[in-house]
Amino acid sequence: MMLLQDTTVRVIGDPRLLSGVDQGRLDHQRHLWTHGAQPDLTREDYLKLTDAVGLRGRGGAAFPVALKLADLPARGIEAVVVNGSESEPVSRKDRLLLTLAPHLVLDGATGLARALGAPHVLIAVHDAEAAMSIREALMERNDGLAIEVADTPGRFVAGEARAVLSALEGGPAVPPGRRVLPTRQGHRRRPTFLSNVETFAQLAVLARLGAKRFSSTGLISEPGTQLLTIDGAVRRPGVIETPTGVPLEAVMQFAGAAAGPVLLGGYHGRWLPHSGGVVLKRPDVSAGIILALGTDTCPLGEVHRVAQWLASQSAGQCGPCVFGLAALVDDFDRLVKGDPAGWHDAERHIGLVPGRGACAHPDGSVRFLASALEAFGEDVRLHLADGGCGRQVRGVLPVPGGSW
Ligand code: SF4
Repeated sequence: MMLLQDTTVRVIGDPRLLSGVDQGRLDHQRHLWTHGAQPDLTREDYLKLTDAVGLRGRGGAAFPVALKLADLPARGIEAVVVNGSESEPVSRKDRLLLTLAPHLVLDGATGLARALGAPHVLIAVHDAEAAMSIREALMERNDGLAIEVADTPGRFVAGEARAVLSALEGGPAVPPGRRVLPTRQGHRRRPTFLSNVETFAQLAVLARLGAKRFSSTGLISEPGTQLLTIDGAVRRPGVIETPTGVPLEAVMQFAGAAAGPVLLGGYHGRWLPHSGGVVLKRPDVSAGIILALGTDTCPLGEVHRVAQWLASQSAGQCGPCVFGLAALVDDFDRLVKGDPAGWHDAERHIGLVPGRGACAHPDGSVRFLASALEAFGEDVRLHLADGGCGRQVRGVLPVPGGSW
């Protein structure tokens, strides 16, 4: 176990991505002692390896890496982009990797860039400590590629792939109106491989271990390990590396979580009434964020706080997102106060908003709110009958700014 600022780091099983970080940041020499040298692989090698282990991206979308690689054209790939914007407010895993194991992330990105013939590697980061560590790591090695570290803003939608690409070219860090795949039109409108920080660290481990050894732990369908960020009503918040498919209940016990509902997948994720009977795998686990709510706070009041923050994060360019999320905030406000019209309007707006924005923000926000109404049905009944559930809103769910 070690501490990075406010983040505790732990492991269930054998560490892979977090090997050696219990002694602090791995400089290049310690990185090589811990992981060995990065083998030179071809594009075909990466395709076969990622397909064999079913590796999925470790950001929110959990898209299969092999499919993304297969979608790239044979030639003319402009860049490999490491998305380290980690805009989910609770998530800590990517900044932790960039800060403590920067060379593992760089190995994954540069190894793939060489295999794809991409001349540029771009690393988008918004955390100052992580940016400093990755810049220091670049001075400790020579990859023979044009590698650039760019600071990006920390807003929620600024982490969306196309928002990152826009920011990297000096544009606004918001998704453009059209949905275009980075594999077709990415950096400088040219084919680009973009994925999140943990994906590149996984690629570096996979390149070293090969498919068979990589598959010696975790699920058969998606073997290996995963990084999870645990927060909320837990005694030991932080980042945990576990085999894929570990029971949620085991992770919650390990983190010292209070009994009660669990939010799986962050603020675009889903509520579960409790942690029993769930195994942690993609796509459900999304970017690996798990929040315990406990039983001594008002769930609907907590959800309303997060809804206000989610609405504030809209990039303000799509009507259904701007007006729909604002309406849902108002609906939940009235529901919390016991107004049945608030509940009915929330149900109606939840059906109207999804699928109509230029990015996944409204859909993810609605998923979070809809699953709250489902998981907290008894609390809805209490609020409508008595004007409340008898519990204060304690602010268990972290939101930036803290004013919600
Ligand atoms: S859906 Fe919302 S967050 Fe996404 S681009 Fe449109 S306004 Fe911005």
